[in-house]
Amino acid sequence: MTRKIDMLPRVKAFIEREHSHFIGGAWTRSVSGETFATLNPATGRELARVASADAGDVDHAVAAAQRAFPAWAAIVPAARERLLFAFADLVERNQEVLAQLESLDNGKPFATAFNVETNVALGQLRYFAGWPTKLTGETYPVSSPGYHVYSRREPLGVCAAITPWNYSLVMAMQKIGPALASGNTLVLKPAEQTPLTALFLAELAAEAGIPAGVLNVVTGFGKSAGRALVTHSDVAKVGFTGSTEVGREILAGAAGNFKRVSLELGGKSPLIIFPDADLDAAADAAFWGIFANSGQNCVAASRLYVHADAYDRVLEAVVARARTVRVRPGMEEGSELGPIISAEQLGRVQHYIEIGRSEGAELVSGGERLGGDLASGYFLQPTIFRDVDDTARIGSEEVFGPVLSVFRFRSEAEVLERANRTKFGLAAAVWTNDLSRAHRMAAALRSGVVWINTYDWFDPSVPFGGIGQSGQGRELGRQVMEMYTELKSVWVKIGVSGEERV
Ligand code: NDP
Repeated sequence: MTRKIDMLPRVKAFIEREHSHFIGGAWTRSVSGETFATLNPATGRELARVASADAGDVDHAVAAAQRAFPAWAAIVPAARERLLFAFADLVERNQEVLAQLESLDNGKPFATAFNVETNVALGQLRYFAGWPTKLTGETYPVSSPGYHVYSRREPLGVCAAITPWNYSLVMAMQKIGPALASGNTLVLKPAEQTPLTALFLAELAAEAGIPAGVLNVVTGFGKSAGRALVTHSDVAKVGFTGSTEVGREILAGAAGNFKRVSLELGGKSPLIIFPDADLDAAADAAFWGIFANSGQNCVAASRLYVHADAYDRVLEAVVARARTVRVRPGMEEGSELGPIISAEQLGRVQHYIEIGRSEGAELVSGGERLGGDLASGYFLQPTIFRDVDDTARIGSEEVFGPVLSVFRFRSEAEVLERANRTKFGLAAAVWTNDLSRAHRMAAALRSGVVWINTYDWFDPSVPFGGIGQSGQGRELGRQVMEMYTELKSVWVKIGVSGEERV
């Protein structure tokens, strides 16, 4: 017997409202009057309609952010901090509402939306809320006599955030937090598939007392609203998370006024298991490394390399888990994995499964869409291919779905070379109890993060980002504060000691 999770009255009321853009502290309809539907991926049915922004709406949002900027940048750090902490308190108070909205809009299990998504987003907001009073410049020991030289960290102005649908709240907060803490104002465009939590956040920010125009949210499509933000001459920075293809477009589109751009893009991350590792724990990490969030994860461990001596045992354990995991609607008790985000993404993933089959890899588990009472949603079985060829598309391109490619290796040097043979470089993991090997591998793997005997851990204080075609710049930590500020050097002539007294 399955039990549905009841929708909270506040969630129901929010979903049923008219959803406009949040611009300059007010709900604002699109100039064109256009709207679009956001669907519940567990049913394929419309969840809500939201306003669709075009360049004119983006102009209004950027202008509102520009008007709000001088006052927000000038507010004393302790006051900015208080407002951001008040915002965090409201996020915490509404955590269940946010988690339900995310579960309905994105499809992920409510438990994941609550325990992972909203908890992580809240932790990030609290971390960044504390930054205004800690953002310092430096003094420099210049060799010119009679000078005092120091630097100041100053906000950039109006920033834009363009975010994906897989972790809508976390991705939004990862950009709202540092942008606002460093004194910038922001226009956020969430993914068209999951706009609801961003709109709810905007309302909470206003309720917390964050001044009108500091955080604006426009909903709409990448090709119109997204592109208008990227090319806008009054936007100083774009923070983007999404596909490598769109990342490339954003880099080119931002060139007009030399915007700062940070890009957190795709990956094909390797998880490597040596035979001396705790194999049960490693197999569990390998399972969740790829299948968490139904594989829709930028750091998904989609390439699993297992040493020949442990291959059969690990593969058997991962396949056994894949066959028992509960793939059910997110708003149902006990659901462990939800649906794919959309019919389009489901089609993309199914196409990759066909490619995998045609490339000759052996499909050992999954591969099919789920039917029965799930037939109208976008549910897919966790899918595992074994003995994948290194050059196969299924084993080298980002699928962004619940599809795992398993490879066999025999030596450290061999697996290192194969793991690094990719255009991506977002994450990697090594499972071994050999301390020296763990550090050798951590140093030699080409990726922005390496996990040893674990997977998918984050903390707001630890910088995160990719190399190669996985992106540029860093999210989180002190480093992201630097990416949302300009460094200004100030030279002050103070005279050589004693000179003035002569
Ligand atoms: P996209 O990269 O297309 O979308 C991410 C965000 O960018 C969305 O807000 C989107 O708007 C916006 N966008 C799209 N095109 C433009 C543009 N030309 N200018 C400015 N903004 C734009 O990801 P998709 O949602 O289409 O997913 C496609 C693939 O991207 C996935 O299969 C996966 O491989 C990868 N992906 C990677 C993610 C990651 O975390 N690394 C996250 C999500 C996807 P809109 O909502 O209208 O599309």
